[in-house]
Amino acid sequence: MRLILASHNAGKLAELQALLGPLGFELTSQSALGIDEPEETGLSFVENAILKARHAARISGLPALADDSGLCVDALGGAPGLYSARYAGAHGDHAANIDKLLHELRNTPQAKRGARFVCVLALLRHAEDPEPLIAEGRWSGRILEQRAGEGGFGYDPVFFSPEHGISAAELDAAEKNRISHRARAFAALREKIAAL
Ligand code: IMP
Repeated sequence: MRLILASHNAGKLAELQALLGPLGFELTSQSALGIDEPEETGLSFVENAILKARHAARISGLPALADDSGLCVDALGGAPGLYSARYAGAHGDHAANIDKLLHELRNTPQAKRGARFVCVLALLRHAEDPEPLIAEGRWSGRILEQRAGEGGFGYDPVFFSPEHGISAAELDAAEKNRISHRARAFAALREKIAAL
């Protein structure tokens, strides 16, 4: 079955193709079909994942899969949340986003710096599908007081994984891909698809 991936990220396409190929899906990126990105007007990850998938399904006439992800910090009421990529203003300025996060948490003690990476996937069989498949993945940890490590991307240098005792940016990439919020959401989606 052909499936549109509502993302412009080539890395995600390859990762998902490897995962969903064995289940009989052939993924095409929405950018290959010239589909633009809709405005992300939702107030939660699941709303945004659904609206992105719906947009791609409506334009392509094919089933579509979208993801939405970010970092939620307890002491900040879940922020940066949906706005993780542009927390400090410019989209994807990871250095500025981390600086802002550390500043916001400057008076928050270690015990109250709990946070989670969240990933939500939504698969719509068609644009009006009333029962989309939704899969979520979470990775819990806490926000460090300063950066540690060079790997990963985004907030990884300040995200401490208690299971590993190091930051996400210090983790081996293969290990991160095995246990991350994205990996967990993908695994949950695969189970839901397999159960259909
Ligand atoms: P996207 O929309 O899935 O590309 O991710 C939204 C934003 O969430 C990214 O720009 C990052 O700021 C943050 N984010 C999501 N996943 C990760 C991760 O695995 N490590 C670090 N930051 C992440």
